[in-house]
Amino acid sequence: MDNRILIVDDDAAIRESMHEFVQRSGFQAFSAASAEEALDLLRTEAIHVVITDIILPGKDGLELTDRIKADYDIDVIVMTGYSGDYSYEEAVNKGASDFVFKPVRFEELLLRLKRVLKERQLKKERDRMLGKLQNLAITDGLTKLYNSRHFYSQLETEMGRSNRYRHALALLMLDIDHFKLYNDTYGHLEGDKVLVRMSEVIQSCLRTMDSAYRYGGEEFTIILPETGGEEAHHVAQRIRKTIETQDFNPEPGASVTVTVSTGVTQYAHGEEASAFVQRADQAMYTSKQKGRNQVSSAYAVRSQ
Ligand code: GH3
Ligand code: MG
Ligand code: MG
Repeated sequence: MDNRILIVDDDAAIRESMHEFVQRSGFQAFSAASAEEALDLLRTEAIHVVITDIILPGKDGLELTDRIKADYDIDVIVMTGYSGDYSYEEAVNKGASDFVFKPVRFEELLLRLKRVLKERQLKKERDRMLGKLQNLAITDGLTKLYNSRHFYSQLETEMGRSNRYRHALALLMLDIDHFKLYNDTYGHLEGDKVLVRMSEVIQSCLRTMDSAYRYGGEEFTIILPETGGEEAHHVAQRIRKTIETQDFNPEPGASVTVTVSTGVTQYAHGEEASAFVQRADQAMYTSKQKGRNQVSSAYAVRSQ
């Protein structure tokens, strides 16, 4: 729970009494006599809410708010006199979460502080939930790999990068061999276990930049940024060899191996995603024709 509160006021008496009150209310209090001192402290201490006076020597409380909102996920409560030198609108425009008048009534400050903290917590929960949903939307439920929707969006991103910087970009397309027969022989659930293990093997063979996707039922794609066709071919061979050594036990006494056919291709700058993917698919199909459990490469006619 967020409970670290920084009080910024150049008036020592106010600062110390607020510090004591905040501490007594169950929070961990910190204090600073100027905006500069506050910013120094923020560099080393994790603070959740800053309560700052507006009028300070040097940088004022609004500038401080501005700096805090630009660099940290911290809520700011601004304190001001009734003089009218600064307005509520100004403080809120700088990103302040709340505003209290001086002399500050501690009970009121406590209510506002609790409300700000409650809103922080709600926002955190909302962000976490949103992150989960976003993740679900791009993940395949069975294998936990990314799904084909995410594949196309990442492919476009990587193609854009490749076109801009003239980097190489490779794509692998993998399809499990005779998988229908496996399902028909041992049942769909056993087939699912193969898909899960395949995904783990694929993941374990990738380098940090590479990403794997469940493209369709028993088809996978892998995007390899900054990788040429030859290097991608090596990666594909490594995956192929690791997969063919996996033992599956779909029935008592049965020890079965499964193989994949892979297509490799390199991006030709300027081409559309559909042409790029189709070429990887054709290379994969060549591997099927050559007897399966193979890696084949296809090159663009107009390769640059
Ligand atoms: P090939 O070597 O030519 O690729 O033969 P294949 O049998 O693998 O190809 P085909 O396209 O005829 O069959 C694909 C099979 O993949 C059909 C289906 O039983 C299986 N499959 C697709 N999605 C899933 C899934 O989510 N779970 C399971 N268990 N099987 C799946
Ligand atoms: Mg298939
Ligand atoms: Mg297949």
